[in-house]
Amino acid sequence: MEESEKIRAILSRDRRFDGVFWYGVKTTGVVCRPSCPSKVPRVENIELFDTLRDALEAGYRPCKICMRKEKMKKVIKTKTYHSPCGEIVLGSLGDRLCLCDWEAEKHRELADKRLRRVLGAVLEEGTSPVIEQAEKELDEYFAGKRRKFTVPLLFAGTEFQKKVWNELLTIPCGETVSYGELARRIGRPTAVRAVANANGSNSISIFAPCHRVIGSDRSLTGYGGGLEAKKFLLGLEKAPGF
Ligand SMILES: [Zn+2]
Repeated sequence: MEESEKIRAILSRDRRFDGVFWYGVKTTGVVCRPSCPSKVPRVENIELFDTLRDALEAGYRPCKICMRKEKMKKVIKTKTYHSPCGEIVLGSLGDRLCLCDWEAEKHRELADKRLRRVLGAVLEEGTSPVIEQAEKELDEYFAGKRRKFTVPLLFAGTEFQKKVWNELLTIPCGETVSYGELARRIGRPTAVRAVANANGSNSISIFAPCHRVIGSDRSLTGYGGGLEAKKFLLGLEKAPGF
C-alpha cells in the first residue's frame, strides 16, 4: 500500500484501513487508527506504522479516543461473498487474507475458534483493502477470467497443517492430485490420513485449492462447501474428467 494512499485514508478517516496500519502524531506522541475521529494532524507530523507494536516500540502511546482498551485486540474483518456455488465468508487480518470459508460449513465455528486462538484476534464484520482485492479476484475466477490468485495469505494452524496448505498452492488450476500424492509431496508418504485431515481443515478455500485434492479412485470424497461445490469448481477450472 502506497504512503499517499495511507495519508488519504487518514484524511478521510477511512474505517476500512483500521487494523491495516496505524499512524503516530509526532506533536502529541499518540498513535491512532486511520479512522480516529480526533482532529486530523498536519501531514508532516504523521508517522506511519504497519503494526501497533512498532508504534508502541517507537514510543507512541495509544490514543484515548480511537484505541480504548477493548479495541487494542487484533481484528479480523469478515465479509460475506456470494459465489455461484454457495455463500463464502472472507476474512482478513492486517494486509493478508486469513479466511475464505463456506458459510454452510459446520466446521466454520471451529475455523473461527482456531483463528481467534492462533492469531489472538477477534472477528468483526467489515471490509479491508485485501478483502476487496479477494472479491475482485474471485469475481474474475468465477467469470472464467482468472486461473491464479495474487492475494497474500495468512495461514493459522500447526506447522504440519501449514506445510499441507502451502503445498496446495503448488497444484495448478485445472489439475488434481490424490491425498496420497499430496502426502508424498510433503515428504510424509504414510501420513495420508493426517494430510487429508489438514486438507479438510483449510480455512482459505479456493485461494489454497483444497478442492483439487481428490480420492485415488478420482472420487470427490468430501468438501467443506459440499460435493456439488467441489464439482463446480473443478468443472470451472476444466480439470480433466470434471
Ligand atoms: Zn486516535
